[in-house]
Amino acid sequence: MIEKVRHHCGVFGVIGHPEAARLTRLGLYALQHRGQESAGIVSTDGKTMFERKRLGLVSEVFPDEKSISHLKGDAAIGHNRYSTTGTTLPVNTQPFLINFYRGQIAAAHNGNLVNVSVLRERMEHEGSIFRTTTDSEVVLHLIAHSRRHTIPEMIADALGRVKGAFSMVFLTKDMVIGVKDPFSFRPLVIGHKDDAHFIASESCAFDLIDVELDRCLKPGEMVVLRRGKEPEHIFPWGKTEPGKEAACIFEFIYFSRPDSIVFGAPVDKIRRRMGWKLAEEHPVDADIVISVPDSSNTAALGFSEKSEIPFELGLIRNHYVGRTFIQPTQIIRESGVKLKYNPVDGVLRDKRVVVVDDSIVRGTTSRQLVKMLRDSGAAEVHMRIASPPIVAPCYYGIDTPEKKQLIAANKSIDEIRKYLGADSLGYLSLEGMLSIKGLPPMGFCTACFGTEYPVPIQDQGGKNKMDNNSQ
Ligand code: SF4
Repeated sequence: MIEKVRHHCGVFGVIGHPEAARLTRLGLYALQHRGQESAGIVSTDGKTMFERKRLGLVSEVFPDEKSISHLKGDAAIGHNRYSTTGTTLPVNTQPFLINFYRGQIAAAHNGNLVNVSVLRERMEHEGSIFRTTTDSEVVLHLIAHSRRHTIPEMIADALGRVKGAFSMVFLTKDMVIGVKDPFSFRPLVIGHKDDAHFIASESCAFDLIDVELDRCLKPGEMVVLRRGKEPEHIFPWGKTEPGKEAACIFEFIYFSRPDSIVFGAPVDKIRRRMGWKLAEEHPVDADIVISVPDSSNTAALGFSEKSEIPFELGLIRNHYVGRTFIQPTQIIRESGVKLKYNPVDGVLRDKRVVVVDDSIVRGTTSRQLVKMLRDSGAAEVHMRIASPPIVAPCYYGIDTPEKKQLIAANKSIDEIRKYLGADSLGYLSLEGMLSIKGLPPMGFCTACFGTEYPVPIQDQGGKNKMDNNSQ
């Protein structure tokens, strides 16, 4: 298997457009990199709610016009999922649509909550019944239990009781609501096109459908979008003190697409500068710089610019390896890297090669890549990593393995170099990364690099922590 830290999810919402479901489908296509396990859309015409969600890629769940023809109305929300809580079950696909005493509400969540097991247990003892094994369903129960008057107030009340990372979109018959946690872990952007209002995890979802980006949501901000009205902006828990945010720095390192703007900054620019900084911190005599496509392309270009070592395409990625084809059987595990990457012998032969990658998790992929490059005739292989060593798991919506499986948590840099079989190895330093010009002026979460967790973790047990309750 190709090892990478994985995103949690991508969310999208629109209101006031006659082709709401069609635009949501396109928005989800653009956000496919944020989650590949399932996709779903809930729409409304103001009277009825319509839904379709399945396991699979957006192109599999919504392959044609027919697949969205019943999703009527001028408002919709959509979701791409990669699970960080709850296993890959059809029942866990989002958006969730529920009926409660105030009508219907649908919800889509990007992030991960860190106190839901405790809340869920309490609610189960009080008689609540859960259908899914996700943290997002707990939020819906909390909304249904709230005795506040308006839907935005009920959502604020519910989310005020959970802890962790949430960038969520909700749909009722009258409104689309987007809300971000006060720490601002995950991105959320708003935009408009004519009289329609939009919300999405990343701005790349807007580019595809010619939506004008208005801005990124602020930490702890809720935006209420209604037909024919100006957006209403609320800070239900007050404004976050500047510097107290904990935006996930990994959105700049790897998760967000380079053509997106997140947290108010263009990802391409920041990622390129991470490559510059890496070249400054770990210079090397070499003939060519290559990336591990596609995720480290931008950082490798930055490294090449700063070091003045030419950038070459030394690895070609096969984009068409389907998820179902990559099964964790022994034979696939052994050839997993070859399935995805093929070295270009003519580029690599007798060259001193700098390989820039965005991160190392377990190290198994990097080790196979180094061997592959040597087999193709590379004279030297120098690994350069455009982020600090990952030494701790993430609890805020990113699927990282346990500490014992993180290579940097268990080996020194030189031990990692030896394990990978590289001639040299250099990681971007934490200080270097945080000093990059152009980073938005806000606090960042860097907990997986060994700093304190910004929100204490109450739930333990990884992504399937709630599955035992239900299976
Ligand atoms: S622990 Fe790492 S991956 Fe998780 S939110 Fe913090 S910076 Fe992002």
